[in-house]
Amino acid sequence: MRGSAALFDRARAVIPGGVNSPVRAFNAVGGTPRFMVNGLGAYLWDADDNRYVDLVSSWGPMILGHAHPTVVDAVREAAVNGLSFGTPTAGEIDLAEEIIRRVDPVRQVRLVNSGTEATMSAIRLARGFTGRKRIVKFAGCYHGHVDALLAEAGSGLATLGLPTTPGVTGAQAEDTLVLPYNDLAAVRAAFAEHGPSIAAVITEAAAGNMGAVAPVPGFNAGLREITREHGALLIMDEVMTGFRVSAAGWYGLDQVDGDLYTFGKVMSGGLPAAAFGGRADVMAALAPAGPVYQAGTLSGNPVAVAAGLATLRAADENVYRALDANANRLGALLTSTLDKAGVPHQVQFAGNLVSVFFTEDPVVDYAGAKAAQTWRFPPFFHAMLDHGVYPPPSAFEAWFVSAALDDAAFEQIAAALPPAAEAAAAAKEPA
Ligand SMILES: *Cc1c(COP(=O)(O)O)cnc(C)c1O
Repeated sequence: MRGSAALFDRARAVIPGGVNSPVRAFNAVGGTPRFMVNGLGAYLWDADDNRYVDLVSSWGPMILGHAHPTVVDAVREAAVNGLSFGTPTAGEIDLAEEIIRRVDPVRQVRLVNSGTEATMSAIRLARGFTGRKRIVKFAGCYHGHVDALLAEAGSGLATLGLPTTPGVTGAQAEDTLVLPYNDLAAVRAAFAEHGPSIAAVITEAAAGNMGAVAPVPGFNAGLREITREHGALLIMDEVMTGFRVSAAGWYGLDQVDGDLYTFGKVMSGGLPAAAFGGRADVMAALAPAGPVYQAGTLSGNPVAVAAGLATLRAADENVYRALDANANRLGALLTSTLDKAGVPHQVQFAGNLVSVFFTEDPVVDYAGAKAAQTWRFPPFFHAMLDHGVYPPPSAFEAWFVSAALDDAAFEQIAAALPPAAEAAAAAKEPA
């Protein structure tokens, strides 16, 4: 045994499941997760010296491609000046200003270390600001592994949240109402029943964690209207879409203003940093300006801030044009190849997030995503991998293009897709 297989063996002895984040273990597709050794531009190399066109981009952050020289230089320069001080630094102001300049409704920003921390803190702030306890979330939307947001429910009417993982107590989840995505009637019904106790609605500005499922026209605007009417806050989770689908994230595409925003992924350029921000009066409730406590030893870390700032500063109009063009090119290749192989499919976009559902029907919510023929995905995925392309190892994940994908990368994708589509076509539904 060598390379990834040997490393996975060692890893499983000392790390639960061999990975530090579950999706990396390939449980949904089977086989051995690839241990990556290096990345450059559009490509990754694994521990067996295989090269892959990367369509995961570290789950979003690497919009410029891997090891972009400008970002690497910024990180190197920051690192030689000291890794962490536990004091304020000027770079944190620069990054806050860059975020505020891009996203109009954001007037103040607090830096944290992960998207999970950002949503957890935004929820605490919303509860502290409104003095209310309930949170509305949507089935299929992921907001990190925050206890109160790991609540789930069947489709249909407003259901009081039940925890979907051991370790989250009923008490932690019971103030979470889980509703079907893209269903304003369900939101209205929830507010009619629980309005005075709802602190906030949290939504992915466009859903990307059940595959790419864009909000139907009027959905985000409807959330804005209903929350405003009932004195609840609207939290736009842009950890995935922020600074990827446009310079201003999803807000740049639909201009629906949230009260609070959460960011991560792209804004830290691949190092651990994230942020939440929004209305000045709401953010003023945050310690030390206000009473709602929130803190972090490494928050605003100078090296992570340098990576984020360099990434955002390099992400100009040309980069966003390239991301959109690459997403369209990828989507067109997927559609034509799956058409030719006769596989039922929907190639869906949410901005430049792309995903493939093996179903005839457009997917607008989690029930639709789960109803797809997900058993076609593992053989499809492994054929892509065998032909040097690395898509996300789950049928429920969006595909993330980078601006570094060039003609050579697309030729490789175009060569990998036909055998993958054949494998999907030949897949048999498990009995
Ligand atoms: C990735 C993600 C998170 C969690 O971010 P982490 O940095 O993984 O904790 C939260 N919300 C959305 C929409 C995400 O895509």
